[in-house]
This record gives sequence, C-alpha cells and structure tokens, in this order.
Amino acid sequence: MIRSSARRTMRVALSQVRALAARVAAVALPNRCALCGNLSHTMICVACDAAYWNEARLRCGVCAIPLGIGQPRSYRPRGARAGAGSAAAYRCDACRAAPPPFDATLALADYRAPLDGLARGLKFHRQLALGTEFAARLARLIDDTPGASGFDLVAPVPLSHRRLVARGYNQAWAIARPLARRLGVRADAALLARIADTAPQSRLDRHARRDNVIAAFAVTGGVAGRHVALVDDVMTSGATLAAAAHALKATGAARVTNLVALRTARD
Ligand SMILES: [Zn+2]
Ligand SMILES: [Zn+2]
Repeated sequence: MIRSSARRTMRVALSQVRALAARVAAVALPNRCALCGNLSHTMICVACDAAYWNEARLRCGVCAIPLGIGQPRSYRPRGARAGAGSAAAYRCDACRAAPPPFDATLALADYRAPLDGLARGLKFHRQLALGTEFAARLARLIDDTPGASGFDLVAPVPLSHRRLVARGYNQAWAIARPLARRLGVRADAALLARIADTAPQSRLDRHARRDNVIAAFAVTGGVAGRHVALVDDVMTSGATLAAAAHALKATGAARVTNLVALRTARD
C-alpha cells in the first residue's frame, strides 16, 4: 500500500519533470532556418542572412525595379545604403516616361530562389511567421532609407472575397499588421476592397495583367491628404499596386508608398 502510493508519487513527479523539460526545450532549443534548414535561433540563419538578403541592389525609387549592372556608381546618392533603394532618388526609364500613380516603392530583395520560397510559404502554406519576418526587415529598410517614412496609414493589397475565403487569410495583411505595429502607424485591413473578381495574375501576360486589375479597387476609408503605405508580398508587373494607388489618389491620398517583400526583376 505504502509502496504503491510512493510509486504513484514518483510517477507524478517524473511526469512533471518531463513536462517542465519539454517546456524548457521549447524555449531554449533553436529552430530551423527557413531557408537552409540548419539549426538557428532566428528564422533566417546568419549564413543565409549574409548570403541572400544583403544584396547590393540599386533600385528605381518609384517602382523598385533593379537598375542595370552598367549603372554608373556615381548614381548612388551619398549616404544611401546599397540595396536600400533610397526613396525616389532614381527613376527607371519606364517611371520617367510614364510615372505610375504610386510615389515610391521599397522592396527587400528580388523575387528569386531561394527567397521566393519564403513568399510561397507565406502565401500557400500558411507560414504566417514569415509575414512577421518580412515586416521586421521592411521596418529596418524604412529606417535605413532617407525620406521613407511619415506614413499615416498602412493597408494591405486585399484579396478578392472569393480568394480570401478559399485561402483563409490575406498574406499581405500578415505582413502589414506586424509592420504597422513596428512603425506605430494605424493598420486598416479593409481600407481597400476588391470590386472585381480578377483572374489570378500569374496566368496572364503583362498587358492582360494591366487590364485585368483596372478599376478593381474601391477605397472604403478616409485618405484625403494622407500618406498611405500599401503592403504586398510580391510585386511583379506593379499593375495591381498601380490600380490600388490609382484608387487611393482618386479619393484624395497625398502620397502612396509601396512596401513589398520581394520584387521580380523583369516582367
Ligand atoms: Zn540558413
Ligand atoms: Zn521605376
């Protein structure tokens, strides 16, 4: 009798120790790097961070397209960080010829392997922590880019209702919400609404993409005189962001800055 009670006490104590050990391990043990799978305390390990993120890319300040390798070095403004894409410091030929409705774009990196895998993980595999990771990096990029701040409102590019229901979440909002919190700016998930159910952009060529999103957005909140930060995961042709910016400007927004995680180098 005494023996079995002692055994039970021992069992309870052991299970408590095991539960505690599991909890300590969950806190103390490192996770895996989202890019290479090696053990890492951060979502992207130090080696991958150095290898893939800190690229020296000079970008158009308006649309964030990478400027050509042959670009003279003197084009870089003094004090501008490589890859930071100093706000509107340079314009690519396309933005000079036909300025888009948005005023500036900041992008973390090009949309290509292996970083494209992060965007797909966020968009198709519900890896929402990647949204927080993109947000943290965008906040740092904003800090490092002269003139890239002063947002009044942060808004995600919305999904159509149909696609939001199918996916269950908007990947742009997964970036916009933590980013707004870091910036101390109000976030509004419903500032823009899709008023047309467009076909998935990836199935269309460049011209079809532009036509596909024209007049696809309605602005539901007050933006008069405001500087709106538009957040998206990937910027490809820029047609979606241009349509959203067009709607914002038409309702009185003073300035629209795109904040995107990854930018395709070419259409
Ligand atoms: Zn890694
Ligand atoms: Zn441009």
